[in-house]
Amino acid sequence: MPMNTTTEPALAWQEAALCAQAGPEFFFPAPGSSTREAKRLCGACEGRQACLEYALANDERFGVWGGLSEKERLKLRRESG
Ligand code: SF4
Repeated sequence: MPMNTTTEPALAWQEAALCAQAGPEFFFPAPGSSTREAKRLCGACEGRQACLEYALANDERFGVWGGLSEKERLKLRRESG
């Protein structure tokens, strides 16, 4: 989840980031707790695809990005080679 906003065009999607208005505990839940609420927010976020691509490109290991948990992103990376 993006913590700050920027005016760089490549990161413009962060300005639409719904999680910028939500607390970080949403996106970095305690181990074993549910990521359902964070994913629900991602589902309504305009920047979701860009967010996910950013997380994959930057090897973000922790928290929910683009609607996927770190485990789900790992799985996606493995599957996509
Ligand atoms: S997709 Fe989710 S994690 Fe990414 S910017 Fe939107 S709300 Fe935040």
